[in-house]
Amino acid sequence: MLLQALREEVLEANLELVRHGLVLYTFGNVSGIARKDQRIAIKPSGVPYESMKPEHIVITDLNGAVMDGDFRPSSDLPTHVELYSHFASIGGVAHTHSEFATAWAQARRPIPCFGTTHADYFHGPVPTTEELTAEEIGKEYERNTGVAICRAIDSAQAERVPAILVSGHAPFCWGPTASMAAHNAVILEYVARMAYHTLALSPQASAISTHLHDKHFLRKHGPSAYYGQTSTK
Ligand SMILES: [Zn+2]
Repeated sequence: MLLQALREEVLEANLELVRHGLVLYTFGNVSGIARKDQRIAIKPSGVPYESMKPEHIVITDLNGAVMDGDFRPSSDLPTHVELYSHFASIGGVAHTHSEFATAWAQARRPIPCFGTTHADYFHGPVPTTEELTAEEIGKEYERNTGVAICRAIDSAQAERVPAILVSGHAPFCWGPTASMAAHNAVILEYVARMAYHTLALSPQASAISTHLHDKHFLRKHGPSAYYGQTSTK
């Protein structure tokens, strides 16, 4: 079967959202991209997670035209396509309506970095998009959601902050692979929940210092990273 390994990874990444309680019913979608093959693999629209199989994953080209699959792709596919075309380094995209991250998106509030859990994954606040205009909603809504994301965050920032809150909607996350995109969606929800509790306990809470934030992010990411096991031990 075409792109079997990618299909299996994308299926697993979608199921990861279910395992962590990030999606209700058929909500949510994860995709992965094989840039060499110029193909995107994405969750089918409306298929229940419990019966989803690798062969149900829809394969499209880089413009979102279906190349292989009997099902329609997730209706959010044009958003994923837009992100892949703007952010050359990403290999996976995950979208959920997870409770706390979506609450922040609905409040149209960026999530400040209140602690090192956030700093380990997101170098800076998790930003929000501007609201879409009536024209953007009326025509090519899903693609324009991607356009709004790419307006709010550039490629360099996308590598350091692998998530955004689409105002009035919900989060989109990404990563080097589909499974990392799903992982980032799980972490984002945890960070969003803790930020909510932080503000409940202390409405005046402020972001951690730049020093602490940089320390935690940069020990895990980039050329000076030293957290975890090195590959040359
Ligand atoms: Zn959505």
